[in-house]
Amino acid sequence: MWLRCTSRRLLTPFNRALKHGRLNASSWSGKVAAVMPEAAGFQGVTDRATLQEFSHAHSDSFWAAMANHRLTWTSAYDTVQDCDLRRGKVKWFVGGKLNVSVNCLDRHVLTCPDRVALIWERDEPGAEVKVTYRELLEMTCRLGNLLRRRGVKKGDCVTIYISDALAERIRDANSSTVITVNQGVRGGKMIDLKKTVDAAVDTCPNVRQVFVAMRTETPVVMKDRDVAMEEEMAHEEAVCEPAAMDSEDVLFMLYTSGSTGKPKGLVHTQAGYLLYASLTHKYVFDYHDGDVFGCVADIGWITGHSYCVYGPLANGATTVLFESTPIYPDPGRYWETVQRLQINQFYGAPTAIRLLLKYGDQWVHKYDRSSLKTLGSVGEPINTEAWEWYHKVVGDGRCPIVDTWWQTETGGICIAPRPSDPDAEIVPGMAMRPFFGIKPVLVDNEGEELTSKSASGALCIAQPWPGMARTIHNNHQRFIETYCQPFPGYFFTGDGASRTEEGYYQITGRLDDVINVSGHRIGTAEIEDNHCSAVAESAVIGYTHDIKGQGVYAFVVLKKEADITEPELRQQLKDSVSKSIAKYASPDYIQIAQRLPKTRSGKIMRRVLRNVVERDLEGLGDLSTLDDPTAVQEIIQGHQATT
Ligand code: ATP
Ligand code: MG
Repeated sequence: MWLRCTSRRLLTPFNRALKHGRLNASSWSGKVAAVMPEAAGFQGVTDRATLQEFSHAHSDSFWAAMANHRLTWTSAYDTVQDCDLRRGKVKWFVGGKLNVSVNCLDRHVLTCPDRVALIWERDEPGAEVKVTYRELLEMTCRLGNLLRRRGVKKGDCVTIYISDALAERIRDANSSTVITVNQGVRGGKMIDLKKTVDAAVDTCPNVRQVFVAMRTETPVVMKDRDVAMEEEMAHEEAVCEPAAMDSEDVLFMLYTSGSTGKPKGLVHTQAGYLLYASLTHKYVFDYHDGDVFGCVADIGWITGHSYCVYGPLANGATTVLFESTPIYPDPGRYWETVQRLQINQFYGAPTAIRLLLKYGDQWVHKYDRSSLKTLGSVGEPINTEAWEWYHKVVGDGRCPIVDTWWQTETGGICIAPRPSDPDAEIVPGMAMRPFFGIKPVLVDNEGEELTSKSASGALCIAQPWPGMARTIHNNHQRFIETYCQPFPGYFFTGDGASRTEEGYYQITGRLDDVINVSGHRIGTAEIEDNHCSAVAESAVIGYTHDIKGQGVYAFVVLKKEADITEPELRQQLKDSVSKSIAKYASPDYIQIAQRLPKTRSGKIMRRVLRNVVERDLEGLGDLSTLDDPTAVQEIIQGHQATT
C-alpha cells in the first residue's frame, strides 16, 4: 500500500522539501555518483538511441541514472542491485527510501494540480468522472488517514476485491482488511460483489474489517465488521504525510491469469517496479506530456496495474479507467470513448479486437479517431488478420501498432516494436525488440543458448531488471523452481519465441502448449494464425495420437456473417495451415464452437480444452479465473458431437 500518515498541516514537511528540490538533490548522494561515474553523465538524457546503447553497455549505471532522474527519493539507495538469478535473489536500489504515492501524485500536484489524473470511464457511456491530480491526492490522503485510524499499519496487506477466489487470496496474503464496493457494474449488469465478499470473509477469521464503497445506490446489509468507506473518508483530513518506504518493501501482490495452472501470487516491490512501469509507459507508447492514455484492461490484471495506474501516474499522465465492455451498449463503445475522451494511446487485448472484428467496420467508422497516435496490444499473440484490422480500420493505417510482450512476473513490457526509435520498422504480429536493459535469449531443450541469429527456442531473460517480481508470496521455493532453475542463471518465461535474421523476436506461444507432431514441435500461435476468412478466432491443442505422438485438434469460432459449409471450412483450414506451415501441422479434428473458454483477462485456457479432448474432466484444476463457466459445458457437448 502507499501508506501515508496523518498531519494537519497543509504543506507537509515532505512536500515542502519536495517543492524546494531538496529530496531529489539529497537522494543522488555522492556515494552513488562516485561508484558509477557513467551514470552521472546520463542524468536527464532522453535520446532513445543513446539510452538503448547505454543500457546495454552499462546496465547498472543505466538503471542508476534512470532511478535518479525519474523517481523522487526520500533518501538515497547505496547499492544499485543485489541480484543472483541462480538463487532467485532480486533486490534493486537497496537501502533507498521513497513513497510511491508521492511519485505518482504529490510531485505532479506541485507542478500541475489541475491536470486530470484519472478519467473514470463508467459503464454508462457519457457519464465519465474526471479527477484532477489535486483531487486524487486528497482522496488518497483521506483513505490513507482512514486506514491508519482503523489500525492498518505499514507492512499490512489490504485486499482489494476483484475475483471469485477471494477467500483463498485473503488467506494466502494473511490480509486483515478488505476493500470492496456494494455492487460492480459491467455491460449494464449489476454484480453483487459485497455478497461474494461476505461469503468469503465469513471463512477468513483474520479479517477485522471490510471497507464498502458505494458504486451503485443499491443498499447492502452492513455487518459489524463493515465500514462505510466514503462516509468515513469524508471525516478524514485531506492531508496525510507520506511514509518513507524501503525500495524493497512490498508494493502489491497480484495473481497471474491462471492460463496454464493455479495462479501464482507474485510480489512486486516499490522502487524498481515503479521505475520500470514509468519508463516503459513513456518509451513503448511514445507518451508525451499532456496525452490522454487509454488502457482498457481490467485494473485487477497486471496490465491495469502497470499501465492504468502506476506507469501513467508516475509520468503525470491523464489515464483512463475503463469500467465497461467492448460491446456495451454496442460494438462501437471503444471508439465512441476514444472520440469523447480524445484518447491518444489506446491499449487493449487481441481477444477484444477479434471480437469487434466480427461485428464489422461500420462500428469503427461511426466515430472520429483522429486523436489516436499509438495502438497497443497485450496478453496473447495477435493474429495477422486482427493486427491488420486494428491497423487499417481502427488506426486508419496511420497509427503504429505496438504488440507488447510481457507477464505478471516481468512487471512491465519487455519486448515491443519501438522502444528506442519512434520511427523504426514494424513487422505485423511481432513484438520485435527488447526494451532498454532487457537481454532476451533463446535456449534449446538441453539448456544451451541458441547463438545463431535466426533461431527458435525457450524465451529467457539473461540478466535481472528492476521491474521483475521478487518472489511468489509464501512460496519462494516455487519462484526458484519455476523461473530460476529450468535454465540456471536466466529468468525463464515459460513462453517460446523465434528470432529473425534481423534480431526481431516473435512469441510462438506457451511452452506448455507446444504440440509435438511426429517429432515436429509447433507453437500454438503459428497454427492459430491461419488465413480463413470465415474464422473469428481459433485455439489448437495437441492430443495423444497413436502414430504421430500428438495430433492437432482445432477449435474455431466463426464470424457472425460467415457463410460456409462445414466441409468447406475444414478444407480451407487444412489448406491454409499446410501452406503457411506444413501438411503435418494441419488439424485432424476441427470443432466449431460458439466461444472459447477464457480467463477474465481474455486469454484462451488451452489446458481446459486439452482436458476435454483427453476426456479428463476430473483434472480440470483451478478454474477460479475462468470468465464464463458455461463456455466449458458447450465445449464438452461440442466435443462429443465432433469425435
Ligand atoms: P499463468 O501464468 O497463471 O498461466 P498467464 O501467463 O496467462 O497465467 P499473465 O501474466 O497475465 O498470466 O500473462 C502473461 C502471458 O501472456 C505471457 O507469458 C504470454 O504467454 C502471454 N502474452 C502476453 N503478451 C503477449 C504478446 N504480446 N504476445 C504473445 N503472448 C503474450
Ligand atoms: Mg504465466
